[in-house]
Amino acid sequence: MTVMYMPEQRLQMYLPFKYRLYPFRNQERELLRQLDELKFLHNYALEQRIDSWRLQKKSVSYTDQQASLTRWRHNDMDGLGRVYIHVAQDCLHRLDNAFKSLFRQITDYPRFKHEITSLTYPDAYNGSVAITEGRRDTKRLHLSKIGDVPIKYDRPLPAGRIKTCTVKREGDRWYAVLTIEVADAPVHAVTEPVNPVGIDLGLNHIATLSTGETVEPPKFFRRSERSLRRAQQKLSREIKGSNNWKKQKIRVARCYAKVKDKRMDFAHKLTTGWAKQHDLIAFEDMDVRNMVHGHFAKSISDAGWGMFRQMCSYKAPRSNGMYIEVQTINTTQECSKCGRTADPPLELEDRVYRCPCGHTEDRDVNASRNILGRALAAVGQGMPEFTRVETGPPPSRSGRRVRSSNRKPPAAKGVTF
Ligand SMILES: [Zn+2]
Repeated sequence: MTVMYMPEQRLQMYLPFKYRLYPFRNQERELLRQLDELKFLHNYALEQRIDSWRLQKKSVSYTDQQASLTRWRHNDMDGLGRVYIHVAQDCLHRLDNAFKSLFRQITDYPRFKHEITSLTYPDAYNGSVAITEGRRDTKRLHLSKIGDVPIKYDRPLPAGRIKTCTVKREGDRWYAVLTIEVADAPVHAVTEPVNPVGIDLGLNHIATLSTGETVEPPKFFRRSERSLRRAQQKLSREIKGSNNWKKQKIRVARCYAKVKDKRMDFAHKLTTGWAKQHDLIAFEDMDVRNMVHGHFAKSISDAGWGMFRQMCSYKAPRSNGMYIEVQTINTTQECSKCGRTADPPLELEDRVYRCPCGHTEDRDVNASRNILGRALAAVGQGMPEFTRVETGPPPSRSGRRVRSSNRKPPAAKGVTF
């Protein structure tokens, strides 16, 4: 199925924005305490559902539990009563959704939790969440029943109402994920894309564009990943539960947060660039989740492919472009010029596509052009003419080409991103 996001579909858009929070010590204590209360609520509500079915063959609904919630809160003013009511309701709601997807056979049976690391204000419209002014031009995030928590904007908060707010603990850091209803910019729908691009996400390069460009993982990824791995190894050598183990666990969480931050930052820069340059962005509609279980496990889950596509899917329409996902079948095996299917099929190690029609192209560039071709066909356009992009080294001063080094790029082992 072809997925398409056109600019005119931006009737109502909710975008997530993640910011770091710096709670005061008493606020952090309160947050931790409320997370504990929510864990208790989750486990209690789950137990109630299980018992009721086992003992009375009666199922408990969300409405039943929500009605009991008022009583539970009233009887436990210093415990569950501290949690903002909609936050507690949201916790029950999540449990209810877990049961609903269980019945649709999407997930396994809901589990008891040892830890809850996030709480959600589901309707921030009512004033339970708001941005307030702190001292000396700083900002605070007002959270009902918590207080005004210092917040840092590393990217500007867009104009628009805050719809929901999730407060998350990652290691020893706190974050707020704000879903914001973004006001609509005037729409100039693109009918004939002038500068479209097909993007092939892969193992040899992070991304290959139909323009011939390739994106390599920045060097700092490897460095920060190495330190994460080292920290994890050290953790595995400590005795579980010991003080050193606990300290090391925090270090691992910090390292992990750093790696995650860098990846996110990189992905944002890259996708913002794409959305600005191109008025149509096309990807393959592949189910990354399925592939992750298969052969390429680590490198794909690391590749954050889902992240690229998700970011493009909202950034493209925001800058008046189109976002299209096309069918994934045979994009590597087809010739992007004549449409012939490769025979014998290309193996993983074949880096160049050679067609009897005379078309010779880098394997990934060929795939990205097929992706683009399908996307353009979906909007009733033909393929543009490509000028060949030189990716080799520039000619030396004497006019001869400088020989590129003989080092082979790391083969199918994969790019870790
Ligand atoms: Zn061909």
